[in-house]
Amino acid sequence: MWLLVVFVPAVPWAQPAPIAYQVTFPEPQHHWMQIEMTVTGLGGAPLRARMSRSSPGRYAVHEFAKNIFALDAFDGAGKKLPYTHTDVDEWQVGGHDGTVKVVYRIFGDLADGTYFGVDTTHAHMNMPAAFMWVSGLENRAIRVTFVPPDGTSWEVGTQLFPTADPYTFTAPNLQYFMDSPTEVSAFIQSAFSVTGPDGVPAQFRLVVHADVSQGDVDELAKLVQRLVREEAAVYGEFPKFEPGYYTFLLDYSAWTAGDGMEHRNSTLITDPDIRLRTTEGRRAALDTIAHEFFHAWNVERIRPVGLEPFDLTKENITCCLWLAEGFTQYYGVLLQDRAGFGQMGPVAGLGGYATAVMRGSARRLRSAVQMSEYAPFADAATSIDPTDSNRTFISYYTYGAAIALGLDLSIRDKTAGAASLDDYMRLLWQRFGKSAEMRAGYVGRPYSLKDLRDTLAEVVKDKAFADDFFDRFIEGHDVADYARLLERAGYTVHPRNPDVGWAGSVQLRTDSGGLQIMAPVPFDTPAYDAGLDLDDVIATIDGQPATEAAWAALSRRKPGDAVPLTIRRRDGKVVQRTLTLKSDPAMTIDDLAGAMSAEQKAFRDAWLGSRAR
Ligand SMILES: [Zn+2]
Repeated sequence: MWLLVVFVPAVPWAQPAPIAYQVTFPEPQHHWMQIEMTVTGLGGAPLRARMSRSSPGRYAVHEFAKNIFALDAFDGAGKKLPYTHTDVDEWQVGGHDGTVKVVYRIFGDLADGTYFGVDTTHAHMNMPAAFMWVSGLENRAIRVTFVPPDGTSWEVGTQLFPTADPYTFTAPNLQYFMDSPTEVSAFIQSAFSVTGPDGVPAQFRLVVHADVSQGDVDELAKLVQRLVREEAAVYGEFPKFEPGYYTFLLDYSAWTAGDGMEHRNSTLITDPDIRLRTTEGRRAALDTIAHEFFHAWNVERIRPVGLEPFDLTKENITCCLWLAEGFTQYYGVLLQDRAGFGQMGPVAGLGGYATAVMRGSARRLRSAVQMSEYAPFADAATSIDPTDSNRTFISYYTYGAAIALGLDLSIRDKTAGAASLDDYMRLLWQRFGKSAEMRAGYVGRPYSLKDLRDTLAEVVKDKAFADDFFDRFIEGHDVADYARLLERAGYTVHPRNPDVGWAGSVQLRTDSGGLQIMAPVPFDTPAYDAGLDLDDVIATIDGQPATEAAWAALSRRKPGDAVPLTIRRRDGKVVQRTLTLKSDPAMTIDDLAGAMSAEQKAFRDAWLGSRAR
């Protein structure tokens, strides 16, 4: 066989040197690290170094610049350069010789899916929280070297591309780099391969930082194999993971904060309460793993307009977290059932989302799309002024999971089992997700709300059905007919306490003068209709002093009962009000179990049964 070798000379001006980071941890016990960022080939313009304000997968701003200190800048000859702090998160360095090295220290003590934390056990890095970058050079390649503290056996776990040096990694561009959380510690690994439904194998590894043995991690890996096989059965194939494998970064060490964050070729999951030494603990870990791995398709590659490319300088708003997060929530529960783990069960897990949305008055104020657009104020967002989100917001996780349940059952119902939500997800993958493989860090074809509607019409071959579903349940304020749909799968939905008097969900605290209302009172409740709200003090209930026991006793009365209240307002005025109780809107779902018809059993098996086996 002839082998033709073509020598291509290097063209230095065509490929500028990567932006190079050197990361050291001189005093991990003091919770700071040092980063040196070297940028060459700058020409004459000042370097604009900046920190991110947001992080992929999080929707509020976090102002990561606040933890930077001891910042210095140097030119290529090592001469110290002056700099100006031009914006809250931007530093400009001029007067250089084409090369600038920025050196800074950064404090961090929160090991979760968004922030940075370092201590004597690990350095846990979400890149936007730790790494400065250069405005205008977002498409330059990046090379990063981690230098573990002296005397440690720390290694590096990440979806970044490996090199011959086990401590040096690369990224093709800023988007990929910022999406690549990195755990540097004495972790335990377990690697495995799973053949996809299309016959193509995918490689996986668990990177576990916790007080566990290799045997525990290998046992967890066996469970994860079953799960990822079931997840791939929805889509018909695994994505092509860019460094050649997918990494589960699992940090179950004591000083983490519970979180789970999806990335393109990895997930970062933190939870101090997971105990991998027991079977029960390993099962508990699957809940977040099932959810986050589903994101490898849904949101990382099947990605909505608004998140692509991710803007690190501000909040990112999108139409469709009800699908990106809510449908992922739905499948996270469903796929555990299909894989035979079923720890939540469809009634407690999936039905609970439906009943929460059915009774939640907030959906009359914001549609699922508008709940998604509220994410920058709800997703780990902090402000000091109060909001009334307790009565105007339903999480797009809950709302979206309820929509997924309604849509899955509606498609099965309409097509007599010929199609399901799996077919919808698979078509979204084929239309929008697969093109993502063209360029690491970017999605080829982000979807719009209209794309989602059109794709549904294609799956069910009925445009009117898709329009009706989107108009009413996604852009409108209705809920699917869960009672009828779940009955097809052998479940009955009915009011939990139809004969019990209900005043509404009111947060109360015992006050010297009675009961003080501690949060905005939800709309469409007897308490709201009676004119009660935040900071009112209920002085008497039915002529008796207001106590928590007296308030709880309202549930022993009947719907329709009128209860006189005395209220003291903020201004000190005392007013009389009448609380007219309604029927408790709480719904409950029962399993017909042995009483199911053959048709119901077949419907349920097709829905909850394994597709991978
Ligand atoms: Zn998620």
